[in-house]
Amino acid sequence: MQFFSTRDYSRKVTSSEAIAQGLSGEGGLFVPETFPQVDAQELCTLDYPTMAASILGQYLTDYDPAFLLRAAEKTYGPAFGGKPDVLAPVSDSLYALELWHGPTCAFKDYALQLMPKLLVEAKRNLGRTEKTLILVATSGDTGKAALDGYHDIPGVEIAVFYPTGGTSEIQRLQMATQEGENVAVYAVRGNFDDAQTGVKRVFADKEIAARLAERNIRLSSANSINWGRLVPQIVYYFAAYGQLVRGGKIHFGDEVDFCVPTGNFGDILAGYYAKRMGLPVGRLVCASNKNNVLTDFLETGTYTAKREFYKTSSPSMDILVSSNLERLLCHVTGSDAEVASLMRQLSEQGSYTVRPETLAAIQESFACGWASEEEVAAEIRARYEQNGYLCDTHTAVAFHVAARQQRAGVPMVVLSTASPFKFPRSVLAALGQEAPENDFEAMQALEQATGRTAPASLAALRQKAERFNTVIDPAEIAQVALSYQQ
Ligand SMILES: *Cc1c(COP(=O)(O)O)cnc(C)c1O
Repeated sequence: MQFFSTRDYSRKVTSSEAIAQGLSGEGGLFVPETFPQVDAQELCTLDYPTMAASILGQYLTDYDPAFLLRAAEKTYGPAFGGKPDVLAPVSDSLYALELWHGPTCAFKDYALQLMPKLLVEAKRNLGRTEKTLILVATSGDTGKAALDGYHDIPGVEIAVFYPTGGTSEIQRLQMATQEGENVAVYAVRGNFDDAQTGVKRVFADKEIAARLAERNIRLSSANSINWGRLVPQIVYYFAAYGQLVRGGKIHFGDEVDFCVPTGNFGDILAGYYAKRMGLPVGRLVCASNKNNVLTDFLETGTYTAKREFYKTSSPSMDILVSSNLERLLCHVTGSDAEVASLMRQLSEQGSYTVRPETLAAIQESFACGWASEEEVAAEIRARYEQNGYLCDTHTAVAFHVAARQQRAGVPMVVLSTASPFKFPRSVLAALGQEAPENDFEAMQALEQATGRTAPASLAALRQKAERFNTVIDPAEIAQVALSYQQ
């Protein structure tokens, strides 16, 4: 299997190169040249690690299959509490696929626990000996999931930058207490955009790259533009479908719809790959919060990033430029020139409009909707009071949209992307309770109010020593990068 750039089909690489490199040189994203066709019925009978290895093997054809199986077994075992594929029934034909039983209690663990192993193996496959320096700008979940995945991985250093005051106290502590010899965490004065712009400047700076290259260090990123982050997410669509078949809820071949709380369009795009590989996925429902740029696009064909940015109670979906949409445009238009032109319009004018045929083709697979802050809170309360199901703010966005998009007779699976105990103040307030200022008191209050237990890794944060407390200006991110030695 070869991969090519969304903006230039003549740039072809192996899967190892796609994972080691991240972005293509001219700014495009790597996509597989075909959708491998699988025996979905048989795949659905496999246990999670075997299923994961089999799906990974379809794309990562220059990796040793025995390595992929070992890596999947190591990743999706005890670290996920033996529960990588919990499908909880919520109400008639409505299910929650709980993707937060991993070490950092958010779905990003599925990719970020596996990707470091894929990166090390990619470098080995390519005979490369450099040190990889991973820089991450984060508003919360990605930073911790990346730190946890990459800590003490040989040949890798990771530095994470988050905005001062821009994360929840729990998210800050998750990062500040991270263990490992190769990790560093910095608070950056300003908001998320300031941190992100600072990191992007370093990536774009040829002089920094040259000076690091002299020390045999190469920069890399851990965000979801890397193919290595997308491919592990295809697996749980198969796992959810397989459970519905085994549970006698559907026969193999029946359609199942999935509703996905969406930010950068990575998680939902993995569902599109599952569908194109032969899994009987019906519609993929793209759920947005008040930053509803994707709802507008999927309804009208016009993508406009030039709009007000809202800080919401579902911060991991507060995004105006959904990077992975570029991959969908590539698959639907089949034209590198067209995608390159749309992306140029986005960066120069802040918006673009696709052709009517393109929009129609997208709408064959994707539905959409969004939830206001009031609707998110009402949804958390309704699911709890009516179904006894406790969900976080991101998942609530999806439940709200799913209720409006559910088709008669078609099961709907909502991807539940974070533990409700990661956002205890918002969840408590939604349940109509007074929320204490302190996140840990809120966590305890949520336990008392609901009789559920907070994940041990979150509760334990309170006792853990903080290792990182450095605050820097965005301009200092370059100095941090240049301080690394071979
Ligand atoms: C990252 C994240 C999302 C959005 O996922 P994308 O792949 O960026 O669309 C949704 N929910 C939570 C909890 C997240 O951390």
